[in-house]
Order: sequence, then C-alpha cells, then structure tokens
Amino acid sequence: MTPYDAPPAQATATNPLVGGQPLLDAFARRVSYLRVSVTDRCDLRCVYCMAERMVFLPKAEVLSLEELDRVASVFIGLGVRKLRLTGGEPLVRKGFMELVRGLSRHLHSGALQELTLTTNGTRLAHHAAELADLGVRRINVSLDTLKPDLFRTLTRGGDLAQVMAGLEAARAAGIQLKINTVALAQDNAAELPALIQWAHGEGMDLTLIETMPMGEIEADRTDQYLSLKTVRDELASYWTLEDLPLSTGGPARYVRIKETGGRLGLITPLSHNFCEACNRVRLTCTGTLHTCLGQDDATDLRAVMRAGGSDADLATAIRAAILGKPKGHDFHIGGAPSVARHMSTTGG
Ligand code: SAM
Ligand code: SF4
Repeated sequence: MTPYDAPPAQATATNPLVGGQPLLDAFARRVSYLRVSVTDRCDLRCVYCMAERMVFLPKAEVLSLEELDRVASVFIGLGVRKLRLTGGEPLVRKGFMELVRGLSRHLHSGALQELTLTTNGTRLAHHAAELADLGVRRINVSLDTLKPDLFRTLTRGGDLAQVMAGLEAARAAGIQLKINTVALAQDNAAELPALIQWAHGEGMDLTLIETMPMGEIEADRTDQYLSLKTVRDELASYWTLEDLPLSTGGPARYVRIKETGGRLGLITPLSHNFCEACNRVRLTCTGTLHTCLGQDDATDLRAVMRAGGSDADLATAIRAAILGKPKGHDFHIGGAPSVARHMSTTGG
C-alpha cells in the first residue's frame, strides 16, 4: 500500500489526532487553513520574488512526497479544512499530481473542504483537466501584466502565451480562477485598471498584492512598493467601489466594482493590520512550520518526522507551535528584509 492509499484519519478513542480540541492559538484564533510550499524551485524568476541566480535547496532538505502527504494529513486530522499547495511553482515538483491525488482522499472523506493551489500557470494547460477530476475547484493564478514583453521582463524569461493557455484549459475544465497581481510602482501601476477589467470580463476575481519584504533580491523594494491605498483612491476616482463584508481570515479586503460587476481583493500587509482574524499557518518545503508570514517563529516538523516521531508526536509539535502563534507581524519597507526567507520557500 502506498501512503496515498492510506485511509483518512478517523476520530477514535485511540487516535490522539482527532476528536480533541480545535487548533486554537493563545489569542483564541482557530487555525483551519494550511498553505504548504511543495518546492522552492520555479520555472520563472519574478523580479520581486527571486534573485536571478537563485540557489535552490538540496533535494535531501526538501520534504518527500510521502512526508508532505503525511504532515498535511496530520493537520487535516487536527481540523484544517482548507489546504493550499504552493511554492515555488507547485506544478514543477516531480510527482505533484500524485501528491494531489493522494490528498484528494481527504476531500472524498469530507475531512477537507477545499484543496487548491497557487500557480504561475505556465504548466496549467497540461494539468487542469486532471486537477479538476481530482476535486480541485478553484485555482489562483499569478499574473502581473498582459503585455508579453513586460511579462518576459518581470518573470525573467516567461512566455505569457503559456499562462493564457493554462487559464483557458482550467476554465474549460470548470475550475474557478482568481488572478493574483503584485502591484509594482515601476512596472504595472498604469496597467492595473486594464488587468482588472480583463479579469472581470473573463469572469475571474482579481486580487492585488503589495510587495512584501521577504528574502534578498537584487532590486530595491522601496522603488517597487506601491501602496494599494493609492491604487484604491485612483480606481475610486472613476469606478464605484462597494466594500464587501467577505472575510477569508486572511489579509485580503474585498470590494465589488459596480461598473465591471467583478470582485477586487486588496492584500495590504504593510498598510493594514489583518492579523486579528488570521486563521492560517504555512509549512515550508523543508517542513518548517511558520505560524506567521511576517515573523521568524519556526517549528521543524521535518526533524520530528525524520527522528522517527509518530503522528501523535507531530500533532503535539503542531499544537505547541500554534499556541505560540504571534499576535501579529511587523513588516516594514526599506532596509534589510523583515523576514530573511523568500516567499518561494514559505509559500505565498
Ligand atoms: N509560483 C506560484 C505563483 O507565482 O503563483 C506560487 C508561489 S508565489 C511565491 C505565490 C504568490 O506570492 C504569487 O502571487 C506572487 O506574486 C507572490 N509573491 C512572491 N513574492 C512576493 C513578494 N515579495 N511580495 C508580495 N508578493 C509576492
Ligand atoms: Fe516563481 Fe511564483 Fe516566485 Fe514568480 S512569484 S518566481 S512564479 S514562485
């Protein structure tokens, strides 16, 4: 039997993982959402995310597919209901579809409500139909421009046509799409209204993200930083923005744009404090659990697994980490990165 055939965690008297207390932190926030970075590698090199010559982790440091499945399954046993696979680029990880296939058993059992991914879309055309078959209903695709030349520049070599084909294939497979766009003062600021109009015209929500100071890159982030407050004020000068009460427990705030009929998300980690309702934690591809995107707190779950720890040991380590989840982050722009790890290691 492969790990992927393993039955879902069941609540039994002898299973310490389930049927116990929900995953609550010291501030009574319930953790129900896990993001897992399945690789630090990527086929693109977006200027705000990676250095041009990234040094990637040795394979031995990255969790195996079996370890990824195991640790995610323990989280699900502890009450995680939404699982997002990210990276790096999740679709470049060898065996990624097997991982999704394995984890989809938790969808079938009802333990997991949503299994989803964030991707740059370059390989989506090949995998969209299978992802849909496995129960993936929604996917976030990152896209910062609709101009092929600028796309090539921003991603240091990417081909926009591949992403467009990926979006088309996902749509054809019945997957709901959301576009994530990093707002960049120098590069796409003027294009943002056109991107929003395009996405809404295609029936996709779009979320704008402020650059976050994570990991050393060549560029100066102070130059790239564009406050979404400025963007919002500009959009509001010609569109009607209606605040939506929707809260996903994350840093996004949502508005409906009356004229396009679509939904716009605004992720403002630097200019808005979103921590009070935070419901999520992140696992790096090396098995380090970070309970806050903007702090350096870390728990090494790989060490627990590789030392021969049981699932109950993993569950104990996870509960302890979550009890220590910081109250909030303290990102700031300028100077050294607030957090030394790259977004591609932590998972966006
Ligand atoms: N490769 C996939 C992708 O691009 O969607 C998944 C991983 S990527 C790290 C996840 C998200 O993080 C992307 O939307 C990307 O634009 C965003 N991101 C990366 N570095 C960032 C940074 N320094 N500040 C803000 N967002 C960033
Ligand atoms: Fe790769 Fe995503 Fe980072 Fe771009 S944002 S370099 S696609 S991991």
